[in-house]
Amino acid sequence: MLFFKDLDLHNKRVFLRVDFNVPLDENGNITDDTRIKAVLPTLNHLSNHKAQVIIGSHLGRPKGKKDSKLSLKPVAQMLSSMLPQKITLAPDCIGKQVSQLKSHQKKQDIILLENLRFHPEEKQNDDEFARELAEDIDYYVNDAFAACHRSHASIVAITQFVKKAAAGFVVRQEMDYFQRIIEAPQRPYIAILGGAKVSDKIPVLKNLIKKADAILIGGAMSYTFFKAMKFEVGRSLVEEDKKDLSLELLKKAEDKGVKVFLPSDHVIAKEMKPGAEYKNITRFPIPNEYMGLDIGPETIKKYSKFINNAKTVFWNGPMGVFEIKEFSQGTAQIAKAVASSDTLSIVGGGDSVSALKKTGLEKKISHISTGGGASLELIANETLPGIKVLSEDI
Ligand code: AMP
Repeated sequence: MLFFKDLDLHNKRVFLRVDFNVPLDENGNITDDTRIKAVLPTLNHLSNHKAQVIIGSHLGRPKGKKDSKLSLKPVAQMLSSMLPQKITLAPDCIGKQVSQLKSHQKKQDIILLENLRFHPEEKQNDDEFARELAEDIDYYVNDAFAACHRSHASIVAITQFVKKAAAGFVVRQEMDYFQRIIEAPQRPYIAILGGAKVSDKIPVLKNLIKKADAILIGGAMSYTFFKAMKFEVGRSLVEEDKKDLSLELLKKAEDKGVKVFLPSDHVIAKEMKPGAEYKNITRFPIPNEYMGLDIGPETIKKYSKFINNAKTVFWNGPMGVFEIKEFSQGTAQIAKAVASSDTLSIVGGGDSVSALKKTGLEKKISHISTGGGASLELIANETLPGIKVLSEDI
């Protein structure tokens, strides 16, 4: 994987693909600027080395047509306040006006292209669209790790039409950490998986069964496993059509000697809402009118012990309905255990990351991934579409 620092950037025009998919409030104000700040080192390096920069990003899901609510205008304004360079927001990402802007671009100025997803061709990975994006571009730099699992035109097809395609600082740092756990994880290697659905985590589970020493499962996904094993789980969230697969996964893990742990106690309630009455149970059945909404204290203790003894930890997905105080303890305590352990710890996924931030211990994590979906796919497939197409090292 080529690193953009190894390119001679002087007087070169660079297409920088970033992830400016920032959260906006109802008035279109940016509520979290983390994704913008994340790419400043790459932007600064490009400018310091006299490259001419064109930035491309998506924002939200505009369904392939122009949507003023999803314009990158607020991003352009925020970027202008963060950088000394002049930032020009182009009216589109391809076409005559963009070509004109490029031809008049002063060396130190930055052009921010309008939302790439205003064109359906972006998601279709369309060659012609990608060729237009790459017009007059020398080098392509990808710093949008969170979008690297998407085979989209600005991630994949575009790389055919440039002289070199390289990783920026964000992508490079993400890949450095993930390669450590993909290629030669220090053992014991413990994976913690939670969240709502087993279906989202099947490919990653399949890979972890080959790679990890133990898998700790929490969240609603555990109830699909329990139901498949014929335990009564009341009204807990279950994916009925994934029960057989859950059993197959457990069998595969057993054959490989990988331990898969499910919660041994549960916080249950009749309602999933703040202030709901709840109780802790240590054995099945979960009564008919109840749902399992968090892991209980015994499970927290057991999982924390595993985490403490691990040399490598990968965590994705909350242990319960962490958004509601009554059901947030499992996730909060696991976050604390991961943060206070002396391991190589990688946390991916928006929910696990926000749970970690709530504990204030995020600085103690070795690496917090900027991409939830991308990190899961990377663990599952050991590479990503957007990484495969980058040029070889020079
Ligand atoms: P995911 O996107 O698959 O990581 O799922 C995250 C969501 O799973 C969060 O919104 C949690 O509230 C939800 N979740 C976690 N545990 C449970 C549970 N036991 N019952 C219902 N939802 C849950």
